[in-house]
Amino acid sequence: MPTSDRSNSCGNPVSLEVLQTNAPRVALAALDTLWFQVGGTICNLRCHHCFISCSPENDKFRFLSLDTCVGYLEESRALGVKEYYFTGGEPFANPEMCDILERTLEFGPATVLTNATLFRDAILDRLQFIDNASIYSLELRVSLDGYSAEMNDPIRGEGTFDRAMDGVRKLAARGFLPILTIARTWDGPDDDVLAAFVKLLRENGYQRPRLKILPLLKLGAEVNRSGGYGAGDFVTHTMMREYDQSRLVCSAARLVTDQGVWVCPILLDSPDAKMGDSLADALRAYPLRHAACYTCWQYGAICSNVASAATASTDA
Ligand code: SF4
Ligand code: SF4
Repeated sequence: MPTSDRSNSCGNPVSLEVLQTNAPRVALAALDTLWFQVGGTICNLRCHHCFISCSPENDKFRFLSLDTCVGYLEESRALGVKEYYFTGGEPFANPEMCDILERTLEFGPATVLTNATLFRDAILDRLQFIDNASIYSLELRVSLDGYSAEMNDPIRGEGTFDRAMDGVRKLAARGFLPILTIARTWDGPDDDVLAAFVKLLRENGYQRPRLKILPLLKLGAEVNRSGGYGAGDFVTHTMMREYDQSRLVCSAARLVTDQGVWVCPILLDSPDAKMGDSLADALRAYPLRHAACYTCWQYGAICSNVASAATASTDA
């Protein structure tokens, strides 16, 4: 894995302030992916590692309405957007979520990031209907941070393992193939953890489990859990030399919120990451001046379904 440095091309030390002011910029090569902060920062859970500190009380960002989503979907079509992602907060806390998905699947494939704890039968029936009616795919990504309640619940809350597994079982029974996303909260190699997840999922009726391990973003609630970024965690020009910028989500995506368009889903809590009110306002390059950019630089496509170095799939 590459390492950072804090020196200029002559090898002389450079201050953090200078690094941030002159941060390398990443151009939007094409707006391939549009994210919607459809659940705002409102979530029925309050996970200790949530990088935007979502909770039932956090309404800093509110639900996106169907009308707002349709407006951006229509703008996105002319810009050639190929796929749509929905996140929060918990997307299915938004009462218009299924209507929003139904309209979105007229435009392209959609992925929803969910904690899978709010899946009433009526919602699942609707999802199945919407999925069957569209020529585009509907993916569901379920967050679960342990293969047992003992491993998961200290991070995501008491009872959340059982509730999320109930959601996964229901999805699998209806023919969905949810991608399990697992925040990397353990030390040591991943193989044993992945094997335990595969065993758990197969025992629960999900025969072709797909798994994606995510690095922790040291922002929001996670700062209190394990500490934030260090002073050297910044992306420098040297680090970007010969670096494939297409690995970064911000090279091909933007995020719609109820307060405008942001550069990416990771920097929601950073006011300077707002790029404007329309997609057209948000097509310019963005400087990698945040410590979280360092995690993206290390791991690449954190947010998307695209396979990364820390991804395991059993359906190949
Ligand atoms: S990590 Fe996900 S499920 Fe947990 S509080 Fe944040 S948005 Fe909700
Ligand atoms: S946090 Fe990641 S996706 Fe967002 S601007 Fe920085 S590098 Fe790009």
